[in-house]
Amino acid sequence: MNLVGRSVLAVTNRSTVRKIFSESSTGRRLSLRFVAGETIDDAAAAARSLNEIGARVSLDHLGEHVTDAAEAVAARDDYLKCLDRIHESGLDANISVKLTQLGLGLDDDLAAESLDALAARAADAGTTVTVDMEESELVEKTVAAFETVQARHGNVGIAIQSYLYRTPADLDRIVIHGGLVRLCKGAYAEPAEVAYQDRDSVDAAFDALTRRLMAIPGVTPAIATHDDDRIALTKRLAEDRARPWEFQMLYGVRRNLQRSLLNEGHPVRVYVPYGTAWYPYLTRRMAERPANVAFFLRAAAGR
Ligand SMILES: Cc1cc2nc3c(=O)[nH]c(=O)nc-3n(C[C@H](O)[C@H](O)[C@H](O)COP(=O)(O)OP(=O)(O)OC[C@H]3O[C@@H](n4cnc5c(N)ncnc54)[C@H](O)[C@@H]3O)c2cc1C
Repeated sequence: MNLVGRSVLAVTNRSTVRKIFSESSTGRRLSLRFVAGETIDDAAAAARSLNEIGARVSLDHLGEHVTDAAEAVAARDDYLKCLDRIHESGLDANISVKLTQLGLGLDDDLAAESLDALAARAADAGTTVTVDMEESELVEKTVAAFETVQARHGNVGIAIQSYLYRTPADLDRIVIHGGLVRLCKGAYAEPAEVAYQDRDSVDAAFDALTRRLMAIPGVTPAIATHDDDRIALTKRLAEDRARPWEFQMLYGVRRNLQRSLLNEGHPVRVYVPYGTAWYPYLTRRMAERPANVAFFLRAAAGR
């Protein structure tokens, strides 16, 4: 992440800024640029509209870094309801989940048990679970939980981040278990000890990982980016791939690009966040594209 992105996160992580933004009606209204709404009904409606234009969906019930076990259990139960809804409504959707929302870092066994429960319910609903990747200090535990639960259920995927030096070695472990592997650049402000700091290195690592993933028959590569050059490479590699793969993009980001890829016949899954805990998600979207900060400030000023 560049200096501007880091500065955006440094400001938005301050508790006063968080309070002003997350508790105001303006903040809530602005969140709708990137978040489908606060309820499962909002999420299901967005998923239905996306399915109608041919996109698959991944539903993210927003939340991360819960502070007590009750919150972690409530998050698991919300996701169980989400899986039931996917099933009942016949949506072409799976779920994406952050393990810190299920209690990782607070009670690691609880988080692993909850991921297991979600994978079991997802199997009943005929769908899958993808584990998001969070801050670098959580990667080891996240990969380990994926390994255990994927070995039991076979319907669990995981995200990997091209900015981390360790990712190629993690991929060696992950591919043994198969499943969906979502490749993204990485959205957190990480230090130089663990992550590339410059854009060119992150992009080069992304391309090397794309080449590798698209050549492995036993995994489903999910190339998660809105970057034209990365997308062009993926399209070229897809010509030689007989097995399933997909693009993944975020709700509200480059919607025209999402549609044109669908019109060209490429598989696209849209990541659809919903829920009341939208603030940290929104700040990462602002850090990725400082123009979003200007958009929010203008809207907040009523212009
Ligand atoms: C489906 C999906 C799942 C993800 N899951 C994870 C995860 O589990 N862990 C994690 O760390 N990160 C995750 N990310 C975020 C990812 O790591 C990047 O931070 C984010 O996708 C921006 O990188 P980019 O590849 O689009 O490239 P960039 O070079 O950042 O962007 C390329 C172009 O896309 C557009 N764009 C990108 N971001 C925005 C934005 N916020 N608003 C408006 N336009 C934008 C701009 O036109 C930009 O020039 C996920 C991303 C996607 C698409």
